Amino acid sequence: MPSNSLSPFISPFILLIEDNKSDIDLVKNNLAQSGVLRNHLSACQSIKQAIFFLREYPEFSTILLSTTVSDGNGIVGLQKLIAEFPNKIIIVLAEKEHQDLGVSCIKAGAQDFLLKELLEVSSIYPNIRFAVERTQQFQASLSEKTNKVKLNSQQLYQDIFNNSKDAIYICNLEGRLVDFNQATFELFAFSEEELLEIEVHDLFHTKEKKREFLYALVASGSVTEFPIGIEQKNGKSRQCLISAKMINTPEFTGYSGVIRDITEQQKANDLRKARDIARQSAKMKEQFIANISHEMRTPMNAIWGMSNLVMQTKLSAEQRNYVSTIQQSSELLLGVVNDILTISEIQNSQLKFDYKFFDLYELLHNLLNVIQFKAGEKSLQLLLQIKEGVPRIVHGDKQRLNQILYNLALNGIKFTEKGGITIDIENLNESNDFVQLKFTVKDTGIGIPSDKIDAIFETFTLIREEGVDHEGKGLGLPIAKNLVEQQGGKIGVKSEVGKGSEFYFDLLFEIGEEVFPEPIQAKSAATLDKGAIRILLVEDHKMNQLVAIKSLEKYWPTTAIEITVANDGREAINILAEKDFDIILMDIQMPNMNGYEATAHIRHKMPPKKAEIPILAMTAHAHVAKNEKFRDHGMDDCILKPFEPKELFKKITEYTFKYKVLA
Ligand code: ADP
Repeated sequence: MPSNSLSPFISPFILLIEDNKSDIDLVKNNLAQSGVLRNHLSACQSIKQAIFFLREYPEFSTILLSTTVSDGNGIVGLQKLIAEFPNKIIIVLAEKEHQDLGVSCIKAGAQDFLLKELLEVSSIYPNIRFAVERTQQFQASLSEKTNKVKLNSQQLYQDIFNNSKDAIYICNLEGRLVDFNQATFELFAFSEEELLEIEVHDLFHTKEKKREFLYALVASGSVTEFPIGIEQKNGKSRQCLISAKMINTPEFTGYSGVIRDITEQQKANDLRKARDIARQSAKMKEQFIANISHEMRTPMNAIWGMSNLVMQTKLSAEQRNYVSTIQQSSELLLGVVNDILTISEIQNSQLKFDYKFFDLYELLHNLLNVIQFKAGEKSLQLLLQIKEGVPRIVHGDKQRLNQILYNLALNGIKFTEKGGITIDIENLNESNDFVQLKFTVKDTGIGIPSDKIDAIFETFTLIREEGVDHEGKGLGLPIAKNLVEQQGGKIGVKSEVGKGSEFYFDLLFEIGEEVFPEPIQAKSAATLDKGAIRILLVEDHKMNQLVAIKSLEKYWPTTAIEITVANDGREAINILAEKDFDIILMDIQMPNMNGYEATAHIRHKMPPKKAEIPILAMTAHAHVAKNEKFRDHGMDDCILKPFEPKELFKKITEYTFKYKVLA
């Protein structure tokens, strides 16, 4: 190596930040194939986790950052990382449809951006290398402008020849080698001396392919990227592309050739194809599950809502008992549908987390209130212990934490007949602004046999005691495990048959000091004092119309509200054109004109005051509520069917108050 050339490239420690499992596998595989050592490579699934990791392991100098991680969507993650680690080399991985995002990332300080769809063994590593070298060069030229790189061209060609990853050689038409580089004997897996003894064309296969190649070369003087197999000394074969040019001088007839090994690239292509097929079928499955859950939620709306109404009428003790069973069963069914939706999200790597500051103590006390009732039915004790040092305001996904604790606590109640359930929270570790909390849910129930304990977190595991038939579906624990692990935590269990079980998990949180604003107090209808609330209910399903009307009338005296029903979107806009209303409750799927179309018409084609009327979407599609799709269509809010009467009343008062009184 001449002393004035660049120092050889040493593979950096690379941290991949990505929350899609199949993309993690693809990138890891590609990097490993292109020679990055496994211990030089690590992956985190969120920005929060990555920041924690990088503080611990500063030697990870290069970051591959996906633009879709949940707590760093778009450019947000990049900005967070640059703020904390200004000297790291960050390469952004963008989706094809978000190409523009890649450009803004570069403007914001990323060193490069790659399109996920185009990641290949042959491109990913050189790109990292270019980014790293570019940065190093830039830094070097800034500090001292002395190290100017000058290579004479002879030396340059020699270096390219020596260091090329492609086999470069010159041979005669029989295949006897005259000159070749290191990559040549590495490709054929022969020693340098052995190679000189043989005719390399004997290692080309198939024989027909070899003949075809030589004919083409002699006939036209050159060949470009001709596909051919190379059989190595050890019997293994490599898939290659060969490019060659004839040499015809008075002293020598032969050709110069370049062979590129594309075996790994081919493997990566196959992997990518498999990934695309898997994605496609996951999408279909997800659609199917979403449809089924919709089909189940709609009739459940009627069952649950109607039994709610019946419970509020005069009933004999016997009737009350029957109706309460109907109510509990429909609640249970709703729980099953929700669990199936979560499992399908997990299996499609589509779990998204919604990180916000929240009051942990409030969450725990609310949880206790909810499960108190179930524990009371079996006369079990419930105990909540928040140890000293556990912060009150933390940054995390509140709903998911609640879901995990609820599953564990409910299992505790389900499998315990005597004694009680204790929920413990303690502080495991604290550093600057982060805290690692340990949650333990302990019961004094039947316990879990030691030979079953390993399988307990797998989907659909049920352990049945002889003669005892516990209700269950084996989804609760796998959901809890995924929710914990995908947020970077660990979950485990200790148990003894007949004595009880102890489930525990830990999670990392940022500590917050946010002051929470008081939620806007919805004024009750009575205090509005501006006449009755005029509601336009747009719903095609007769049973759902009845549930909504009866629930509303139960809550408000008929003098305080005035409900008009429209059977579809078209009827709704005709009625609205004739008469004033204070709020619209709008179903989405309807014949003639659906809820989105009707909303668009109201927002864009009606006079100003009418165009601003609050519109609440009513849907049984959980995902519509979750991704707030209804907002794109101009709706203000959403009520999920079967609706919680309290939530519906609260939203109606809140929106009509703003519209009638504040406007
Ligand atoms: P489900 O509760 O719906 O059956 P889970 O995945 O939550 O599904 O639990 C799977 C199985 O693990 C349960 O059916 C039960 O046999 C066992 N199990 C879970 N929690 C406990 C517990 N606290 N005590 C005893 N067994 C338990």
